[in-house]
Amino acid sequence: MRFSNLHTHTTYSDGKNTVRENIEAAIEKNMLSLGFSDHSFTPCDQSYCMKLENYGRYRAEISELKREYEGRLPIFTGLEKDYYSEINNEDFDYVIASVHYIIKDGKTHPIDHSPELQTCCINESFFGSALDMAKRYFELVVENARLSRPDVIGHFDVINKFSLMPEDSEAYVKIASEALVETSKYCKRFEINTGGISRGWRKTPYPNRNLLELLLKNGCEVVINSDSHKAENLDFFFEESAHILREVGFESYSCLMPCGFVKMPL
Ligand SMILES: [Zn+2]
Ligand SMILES: [Zn+2]
Repeated sequence: MRFSNLHTHTTYSDGKNTVRENIEAAIEKNMLSLGFSDHSFTPCDQSYCMKLENYGRYRAEISELKREYEGRLPIFTGLEKDYYSEINNEDFDYVIASVHYIIKDGKTHPIDHSPELQTCCINESFFGSALDMAKRYFELVVENARLSRPDVIGHFDVINKFSLMPEDSEAYVKIASEALVETSKYCKRFEINTGGISRGWRKTPYPNRNLLELLLKNGCEVVINSDSHKAENLDFFFEESAHILREVGFESYSCLMPCGFVKMPL
């Protein structure tokens, strides 16, 4: 199967490879198209995101490379927009909406950086209740979709990355499921994201199987993304993800091409 990847990070944010190195790798892997989605500028934590002053250079470099590689690989300029960022959607070909932080009581908690920091968030801001943290996280996911009107919802249940959430409990499933239905009112395209697997934290992609079934039931479409921070991971776990989608009952996945999002058979 041939794939596309819209969730990729370069040296403009916390990725290891340049834009050009990623393009070369995508051509090598015979990919259908490639989109860049470096982290939007987050004033609350500037260690992982793109610098505000680099937005222009980022867009200009990708535009130049789009022309250079025309006819060989369709390339798109996207952005992974965090809840705590302000952007102009018109500046990008597409936007992925993701939540990476919870700011509460004046404290900024990164929620997907490490198990230690997520535990700190649960203990310091939610009195030790993982469920209360999940509730707040999913509120922000819904808000981000409502306010940003993105093209894709990024790693919907990334708070499960470190297995600190009671993922199978009735209470958690209810919170996540209700949030998914609410989010889908504003954006009906979600990604299946393999980034937690390539970094060794998980064995399965986000969203989990229950949520994928709910996406299908709600008429949502799915794009397959690797959230790659290295060019070698551009298509990491894609064949396996396609298999999971088929098992859930999806008959196609969505892929961004020059004419827009198109459905590819699974
Ligand atoms: Zn992210
Ligand atoms: Zn990402």
